[in-house]
Amino acid sequence: MKVIEYCVDEKATCRLAANLGLLFKKNGLAGICIFLKGDLGAGKTTFTRYLLKSLGHVGNVKSPTYTLVEPYDLLGLNVYHFDLYRLADPEELEFMGIRDYFNTKSASLIEWPERGGDLLPQADFVIDIKYKDEGREYTIEAFTDTAKSYLNDFQR
Ligand code: ADP
Ligand code: MG
Repeated sequence: MKVIEYCVDEKATCRLAANLGLLFKKNGLAGICIFLKGDLGAGKTTFTRYLLKSLGHVGNVKSPTYTLVEPYDLLGLNVYHFDLYRLADPEELEFMGIRDYFNTKSASLIEWPERGGDLLPQADFVIDIKYKDEGREYTIEAFTDTAKSYLNDFQR
């Protein structure tokens, strides 16, 4: 199951992220893993920023390009925003104790999951972003039963 949405500008992306955020506020975010795919500059961090804001984050959302991960405390959960672009070797994830990040009291958003190898959990949602005309095309695909039931509920 997937939702494809053309976002002509950042405002439209903000709206899309907020609509997904609504589903998490309503149905829960615990244990959810979201992969964000797309070329550099496609809009992975931008989408994450708006999603975190819709979940109640106030203030800056730093891109975790250099730190690999930035933690947030939202909806009573540890929400982790990863950017694995600079990961040289998936083994680095072992060193940072990657497994401890994924549990029933956390949720994660992962940019460049392709670089994480098989140390990452299965994604509930994969958000794929493509440049299209002057905007971006966001495809949100559900891969688990939980994610599918959420997307069933998706309101534009
Ligand atoms: P990524 O994390 O995928 O490398 P960023 O989110 O950091 O990309 O950057 C996306 C850039 O594209 C930002 O400068 C943003 O303002 C711009 N942009 C233009 N149109 C859109 C859109 N519709 N949705 C998201 N970002 C957009
Ligand atoms: Mg980014």
